[in-house]
Amino acid sequence: MVNEKGYISIETENIFPIIKKWLYSDKDIFLREIVSNASDAISKLKKLHDIGEASLPEGYKPRIEVRVNKENGTIAVSDNGIGMTDEEVKKYINQIAFSGVKDFIEKYKDKTDDQQIIGHFGLGFYSSFMVSDKVTIDTLSYREGADAVYWESTGNTEYSMKQSEKNTLGTVVTLHIAEDSKEFLDVWKIREILKKYFAFLQYEIYLIDENKKKDEKKDEKEEDKPINNTSPLWLKNPRDCTDEEYKDFYHEVFLDFNDPLFWIHINMDYPFNMKGIIYFPKLKHEFEPLEGKIKLFYNQVFVADNIKEVIPEFLMLLKGCLDCPELPLNVSRSFLQNEGYVDKISNHIIKKVADKLKLLFNKEKENYEKYWDDINPFVKYGCLREPKFFERVKDIIIYKTINGKYVTQSEYLEQNKDTDKTIYYVNDEKQQAQYIQMFKEQGLDAVILNTLIDTHFISFMESNNREVKFRRVDADITGSMKSEDSNEEDNKKLAEKLEKIFRESTNKEKLKIKVEALKNESTPAIVLISEEARRFKDMSRTFGTNFNTADLFPDEETLVLNSNNNIIKRIAALLEEDNRKEDVKLAAAHVYDLAAMSQRTLEPESMTKFFARSNELLMRLL
Ligand code: ADP
Repeated sequence: MVNEKGYISIETENIFPIIKKWLYSDKDIFLREIVSNASDAISKLKKLHDIGEASLPEGYKPRIEVRVNKENGTIAVSDNGIGMTDEEVKKYINQIAFSGVKDFIEKYKDKTDDQQIIGHFGLGFYSSFMVSDKVTIDTLSYREGADAVYWESTGNTEYSMKQSEKNTLGTVVTLHIAEDSKEFLDVWKIREILKKYFAFLQYEIYLIDENKKKDEKKDEKEEDKPINNTSPLWLKNPRDCTDEEYKDFYHEVFLDFNDPLFWIHINMDYPFNMKGIIYFPKLKHEFEPLEGKIKLFYNQVFVADNIKEVIPEFLMLLKGCLDCPELPLNVSRSFLQNEGYVDKISNHIIKKVADKLKLLFNKEKENYEKYWDDINPFVKYGCLREPKFFERVKDIIIYKTINGKYVTQSEYLEQNKDTDKTIYYVNDEKQQAQYIQMFKEQGLDAVILNTLIDTHFISFMESNNREVKFRRVDADITGSMKSEDSNEEDNKKLAEKLEKIFRESTNKEKLKIKVEALKNESTPAIVLISEEARRFKDMSRTFGTNFNTADLFPDEETLVLNSNNNIIKRIAALLEEDNRKEDVKLAAAHVYDLAAMSQRTLEPESMTKFFARSNELLMRLL
């Protein structure tokens, strides 16, 4: 061939500014692009070989090398793939408006449906100019009799081409790293980038430090090993994978030394191609919010973590790898244009996850219950976000009860008929201990709903089934806690009289008083808080809104006095004695504080008063 100088076709003038702009975002993308091209080139050669259009050299083994030479200021990426003729360099490199991959696929798409070619999801070859002031290509095509070609450009629109001496199949792309990008000459940095994108590339990648002295034998050994695992577990048939392999893979990829609880292996070809493994991680602390990571791959090349345009949001609480070779990714890397694709992925995963949960519920109930504490935030979040998921799992949602058992909603209602389709719950076992005690004494059960998501989940469940209500244990008193011989009329009258005294002595103008005959005689009084008002406050606290909830929902607090309790009986009797008025007030304030304390921590001011009053009462005893 003749030496040639020329201008890269006019479109490039539009592309360089874009490349430069990228400098400020994801600079290490250049390596992904160049190594992806190398891997493409190998795939193409193999494909041509498969259809009988190319022969492979003796003992052919696909190999990509990344050579870093800090002294010369270069990074060279070589492959033993398809190579390019001078015509192809002109077409594919000089006229970048033509997409090589498109041409290739167009030409060969019907011949075999072997492995897909890594498509272009970035700026491609020209992204190398993000970090280089000169780029050269040395390439020899697989075509018989082809001349090797050397191409060079310094990043403006000019290039030069000439024949080269290269006598081995494939391509070497050499980047002469620009002054402002010298950090990429650090072998560790390059290793890190390669590991990030190509930990699972299908062809071996070797990283070579060209400045390493020959006698540093130990490190040379390092260089004998590829930096990647060419056959990630998700590609294996699920039937051939052992639990150990799944766990090892999890530890390796997520650097989480805890074992995952269980996993789902996705391996589908139809109606589209998607493979992957999704793990249910173990929560480290009881109240830790789930923080997952779904790594998205494109034909074994890492694209990004947690891309919300592709992966259903609720899945991001889990950990896993998903390889979606049909993913349409455009220039800006993660923006997905084809919405329909997301729905397809989402529907399939929803089905798989729900099926797995159902299988555990039906076949391994004990394990399912054991996992529940870890997976319930995920399942609940999934229900809130994805109606389809809720539809699938609604009958296998379980609740842990104050008696340490697990029940479904219908089991709870069946076992607690007295509660009139109300599910009683506890969200703080310590603070609500007294109420729990009362429930237990009456043979009633309550469920524990103490994760952050439960407030939303409860409202969601109620809106889905209007017949069922959720009430915190301190919201009201169930029928079965009252004794049957209570005299409603008398109790009402007594309540009216006591209300004034309690309001005065507690300084709570809106406090409501009710008198009920409770079966449990030892409790003088309990505080009840309206479920709606409390929930509204909880919600606005989580959302950080500035509603003045006190105005919208004034403290709807009711003090239930137990007419079967001796203290209350005494207070009622003393009402008639004029000279004991102060004592009654003192007792009222104390009864209120004790009831309030079994539900929450007192405010500092009330606490101080409580201590003073307690001391006074002690003094009276002595
Ligand atoms: P693409 O997104 O098509 O990979 P690039 O700009 O990265 O776009 O590359 C343009 C074309 O140049 C490729 O499609 C391919 O035909 C050719 N090419 C680039 N690198 C190589 C390589 N290492 N070996 C063979 N051909 C290559």
